[in-house]
Amino acid sequence: MLKKNQNKTGSYDFFHCIEKNFNKAAKFISVEKGLLEQIKLCNSVYRINFPVRIGKEIKVIESYRVQHSHHKLPCKGGIRYSIKVNQNEIMTLAALMTYKCAIMDVPFGGAKGGIKIDPQTMSIDNIEKITRRYTSELIKKNFIGPGIDVPAPDYGSGEREMSWIFDTFLSLNPGDVNALACVTGKPISQGGVRGRKEATGLGVFYGIRELCRMKEEMFSIGLDIGIIGKKIIIQGLGNVGYHVANFFYNSGAIIIALAEREGAIYNENGLNISDVLSHLKETGSILNFPGAKNINNTDKALELECDILIPAALENVIHKNNADKIKAKIIGEAANGPITYDADKILRKKGIIIIPDIYLNAGGVTVSYFEWLKNLSHVRYGRVERKFSENMNSELLQIIETICKKKVSIEEKKIILRGASEIDLVRSGLEDTMINGFHKIRDLKKSLCINSTRTAAFLLSIKKIVDSYKKLGIFP
Ligand code: NAD
Repeated sequence: MLKKNQNKTGSYDFFHCIEKNFNKAAKFISVEKGLLEQIKLCNSVYRINFPVRIGKEIKVIESYRVQHSHHKLPCKGGIRYSIKVNQNEIMTLAALMTYKCAIMDVPFGGAKGGIKIDPQTMSIDNIEKITRRYTSELIKKNFIGPGIDVPAPDYGSGEREMSWIFDTFLSLNPGDVNALACVTGKPISQGGVRGRKEATGLGVFYGIRELCRMKEEMFSIGLDIGIIGKKIIIQGLGNVGYHVANFFYNSGAIIIALAEREGAIYNENGLNISDVLSHLKETGSILNFPGAKNINNTDKALELECDILIPAALENVIHKNNADKIKAKIIGEAANGPITYDADKILRKKGIIIIPDIYLNAGGVTVSYFEWLKNLSHVRYGRVERKFSENMNSELLQIIETICKKKVSIEEKKIILRGASEIDLVRSGLEDTMINGFHKIRDLKKSLCINSTRTAAFLLSIKKIVDSYKKLGIFP
C-alpha cells in the first residue's frame, strides 16, 4: 500500500523527500505547528507559458519562478535550464535555497527558477530570446529586482544568461542605479564578483576538507586525516563539478573517476583534470581519454570503490535501488538533492558519512551575496583600502628590518607587502563561512546526539528561520 506522496515505485517525490527531512529535524524543537507549516510551504509559485518564434514555428515555453520564503528579502536562487524542469522540482530547489541561506547566515529567502528547454540542442540566439522574454515576464509580475528576487546561474545556465537578464532588467528599468544587483553570477565586466564562477566548487572543497581534518570522523571510517592521496569520484563535469575536481586535484587528491552524460572514465592512478578538460573540448566527450578505461553505463561509476564520492550533476541519482551498492566512505552532495530520502537511510546504515547539499553547495549563494553587496555599494572589494594596507605593511617591514638589522628577500617582501585584492577577500569570506557552517552543524549534531548530519543541518536552519519569524512579530 503506497503512502501519501509516494510514486508507483514507492519513492517520495522530490519536494516530499525534503519535507520528510524537515519533519525529522523539527522533532528536535518545540515550535507551533502553524509556524512549521509556514516555513515548509512555498509562499509564491509563478508558472509562465510564453510564446517564442523559433525558426518558422511558434513554440510555447514552459517556465517557473518559485519564491519559497519571504522571511528575509530579497529572495535568491538560480535559474535551471533543462528539459526536465517541472513545478515540483523548482519548488523543492527553492525550499533548499531557504534552508541553505539560513545555515550560512546569508540574509535571503529561498527562490528558484526553471525554463523547460534543452540548451544543448538550441542556438545561442534562441536561448537569448527565451532568456530575455522570461526576464520581462518576471518584471511584469514583480518577481525580479535587487530588493525583491535575485536570480543566479544553476544547471544549464551561466554568466552569459545572467548578463542578458541584467541587460533586459536595466532596459525596462532605466535609471535604476541598483539594477546590477537584480541578478548575480554575472561576468566581471558586467558587475560580477571575482571568484563567483568557481565559488560553489570551492565551497564544496572547503566543506569536505574540513571534515577530513576531523580525527574522530576520519578514524570512524578508517581514513587518515587530510586530503592528500584521497581517492575521489565526481559525477558531472559542469560548472560545479569541474571546479570541485580542479581544487581537489591541485590539493593532492587522486581523481580516480569522472562521470558525464555519455559515460564515465576511470584510472586508479588518477586523472589529470586539465588534460581531461582539453580532451573534452577537443573531442566533445570525456570518453577515450588516454590511459583511462571507459565505463559506458555512466551510473555505474557511482558504485566504484573510493574514499569520497561527489555527485555534482542532478538530483535523485542515488536511490533505494543503487544505495546498497555504493562503496564510498564519504559522500559530498555538490548537486542539489542527489540522494533520495530512502537512499539516505541505507547509506547511513552502511556507515557512510554524508555531507548534505543544504550546507555543502552553499558556497555559490554565499559569494552571490558578496556580489549583490558589491553591486549595491558600487565599488570593487579592496579598491579603497588595498594601497593603504600595502603602504602600512611596507612601513612596518622597514621598522622591523631596522630593529633586526636584517633585510628580507625580494620574494618574501612581495608576500609580506601584498594588500588584499577582490579575489583574496571573496575567497577568505567563503572559506570562513564554510568552516563556520561546518562547525555549527557538527556542534549541534553532537550536543543533541543526532545521528545524521542532514538532520542537524535542517535543525540549525529551522531554528534560525523560526527565530527570524518570531522577531518579525508575526508569531509572538
Ligand atoms: P552545469 O549545467 O554547469 O553542469 C552539470 C553537468 O552535469 C553537465 O556537464 C552535464 O553534462 C552533467 N550531467 C548531466 N546529466 C548527467 C548524468 N546523468 N551523469 C553524469 N553527468 C551528467 O550545472 P551546475 O551549475 O554545475 O550544477 C550542477 C548541480 O549543482 C545542480 O544540482 C545544481 O542545482 C547544483 N548547484 C549549482 C550551483 C551553481 O552555482 N551553479 C550552486 C549550488 C548548487
